[in-house]
Amino acid sequence: MALRELNEQIINCRKCRLWKDAKHAVPGEGPENAVAMLVGQNPGEEEDTAGKPFVGRAGKFLNKVLTENGINRQDLFVTNIVKHKTPNNRKPLTDEIEACTPYLATQIKEIKPKLVVLMGEVAWRTPRKEGITYFETYHPAAAMRFPRAKEKFKRDFAKIKTFMQNLG
Ligand code: URA
Repeated sequence: MALRELNEQIINCRKCRLWKDAKHAVPGEGPENAVAMLVGQNPGEEEDTAGKPFVGRAGKFLNKVLTENGINRQDLFVTNIVKHKTPNNRKPLTDEIEACTPYLATQIKEIKPKLVVLMGEVAWRTPRKEGITYFETYHPAAAMRFPRAKEKFKRDFAKIKTFMQNLG
């Protein structure tokens, strides 16, 4: 299935309750043949308004760490495991994650990345596919708040850069 068709499905999704309070679904953005994908938890208020992933505070921090490591965000496909915002930005419920995960699985199947970076424990639930490297790191919002997590997050993105360089 083409990503455009999948985006239509995500935008019209009624498989769980989250669409009701959302202004926009946030399918994700980036090249359809991206070598690497970044996966977060779910869009927040600012992402809901913009219809784009990681444009708020956590996104600005993520952009900074990407830039510090010489990674061009435009080269990555950036998305979330859950495509709608949650009430008061609460953690998505299991049934919401289960309803939404097939969209991410299809994105991974279509994009065929070599590397999928899973940011935060909710994203760590992403089903794994053979032939792809999955890298678990902190969620940028956690990395922003806790100094040790921040240092680890930055070291992880240095490793991610090296991995991407070795892919050629
Ligand atoms: N946090 C996420 O997990 N995803 C976003 O898109 C924004 C904040």
